[in-house]
Amino acid sequence: MRHLVLVLGDQLDLAAAGFDGFDPARDAVWLAEVAEEATHVWSSKPRTVMFLAAMRHFAQALRAAGRPLHYTRLDEPGNQGSLQAQLHADIERLRPASLVMTAPGDWRVLQAIQGVAKANGLPLDIREDRHFFCSVGEFAEHARGRKSLRMEHFYREMRKRHRVLMQGNSPQGAQWNFDEDNRHAFDAAGPGVVPPRAAFEPDALTREVIALVEQRFADHPGRLDSFAWPVTREQALEALQRFIADRLPLFGRYQDAMWPGEPWLYHAHLSAALNLKLLNPREVVDAAVAAWRAGAVRLASVEGFVRQILGWREYVRGIYWTRMPDYAELNALDAQENLPAWYWTGATDMACLRDALAQTLEHGYAHHIQRLMVTGLFALMYGVQPRQVHAWYLAVYVDAVEWVELPNTLGMSQYADGGLMASKPYVATGRYIQRMSPHCLGCRYDPAQRVGERACPFTTLYWDFLLKHEAALAGNPRMALQVRNVIRLDGKQRHAIHERAGAIRRGEVN
Ligand SMILES: Cc1cc2nc3c(=O)[nH]c(=O)nc-3n(C[C@H](O)[C@H](O)[C@H](O)COP(=O)(O)OP(=O)(O)OC[C@H]3O[C@@H](n4cnc5c(N)ncnc54)[C@H](O)[C@@H]3O)c2cc1C
Ligand code: SF4
Repeated sequence: MRHLVLVLGDQLDLAAAGFDGFDPARDAVWLAEVAEEATHVWSSKPRTVMFLAAMRHFAQALRAAGRPLHYTRLDEPGNQGSLQAQLHADIERLRPASLVMTAPGDWRVLQAIQGVAKANGLPLDIREDRHFFCSVGEFAEHARGRKSLRMEHFYREMRKRHRVLMQGNSPQGAQWNFDEDNRHAFDAAGPGVVPPRAAFEPDALTREVIALVEQRFADHPGRLDSFAWPVTREQALEALQRFIADRLPLFGRYQDAMWPGEPWLYHAHLSAALNLKLLNPREVVDAAVAAWRAGAVRLASVEGFVRQILGWREYVRGIYWTRMPDYAELNALDAQENLPAWYWTGATDMACLRDALAQTLEHGYAHHIQRLMVTGLFALMYGVQPRQVHAWYLAVYVDAVEWVELPNTLGMSQYADGGLMASKPYVATGRYIQRMSPHCLGCRYDPAQRVGERACPFTTLYWDFLLKHEAALAGNPRMALQVRNVIRLDGKQRHAIHERAGAIRRGEVN
């Protein structure tokens, strides 16, 4: 064998760089399902099914394309349990002259594969992942010499370089950013009838995976009775079309809104398909821009959406690959609490958290504001160790892969990088959630109260957070107003907040 082409569970693209020059007469593809990928964090059942079902369908596509394949199933006798051990065993058996692959998304996996190649004395050809608009080298170039990094600068550069929503050298609509038009809450009548999401009834292959995961990872979090994610390229393309036609017109407007019992709203639900490489971000951006050109969607919605894909998604990848491995260890606020156990079950009286956790466990999905301003916000103000927060986010969502999850969690949500990703910690009282949803109406707590029996834990912890970090935050001009309010608190008020926050952390209030 000339090349053994290694494909990982999040590299399911027949046109990936690893396949360039593939010769079926001399080369073969290697894919392996290994338990370690579901256990190095306590991976939820929906997430594990997402990966395994997509991998098995991709194996079918490889065979149909006539590419010789060495595929190890999770339940196969002799499965070695980890990527390293499996690859090592397969190299001994297949004796390839060299290994080839598209650059892995995770730092941990890159180290593992480089280690196996070295131990076996084999050349390893790692090719740039052209799935992304921006290479790691280009991002490093962008970051070079800048005192601070801001997504907005990067995003504008990307718009210009890739000629997306541009008119000559200016942005379409003479504005880079339509945030003002976007991000509304629903009025009291609620979202009304939300278009049904693109749901895909599991076929025989996916049902087999569901049964396997139920049996093998029985004690893992999450449920599988409503698993309906796209697991093939064809399904992913259909999900994209459905999003463009049904949801994109209201995407921007309700990007930040929440409504009880409505997990899907006007979001794309395309992150897992994108991260597993069933979809290419260019085709996603092109489809959105084409809908605007056809007059079907307002510019504000399309810009809001393009910003997420061409901006945020590329930006966090650049941060990850230019900052790892030290990035994963950061804990700028010295947060040392354990993650409350109810994050894994949803058993809390806090209505907003209960709703976000219930849909997370049922579908492996929550939208950005639920992740940032409900589950993330609570963990930040509670003071959970960033590594534990990271392990939770990496475990529970079907779209969770470390290069995108880690900067979002450690940086944007937990401020553990001390301001590299976000210019200030995203902290807020329960009133933010009250503004963006009707959750507080059905909650035993009151977002306006910071102490007392009915005090909203978010509101208590917000004041507690400011008190705890008063000195550190005083130097941040974007926090000036919030810090000024905290300075006004007298000793008695401070004590009452401290007591109530202690009760929350002891689990007496949850
Ligand atoms: C704490 C935390 C953890 C997160 N973990 C992940 C993760 O593991 N995997 C993941 O893909 N996203 C993650 N995100 C980003 C974002 O929440 C999800 O991409 C989004 O909710 C996925 O749902 P959607 O496809 O309906 O997205 P939409 O809201 O419809 O957005 C469209 C697309 O834009 C991209 N996107 C949007 N926001 C971001 C962002 N902040 N960073 C990168 N891409 C973005 C996604 O590809 C998404 O599919 C995280 C955010 C936070 C705050
Ligand atoms: S009162 Fe507080 S805990 Fe309850 S729903 Fe509102 S923000 Fe959440």
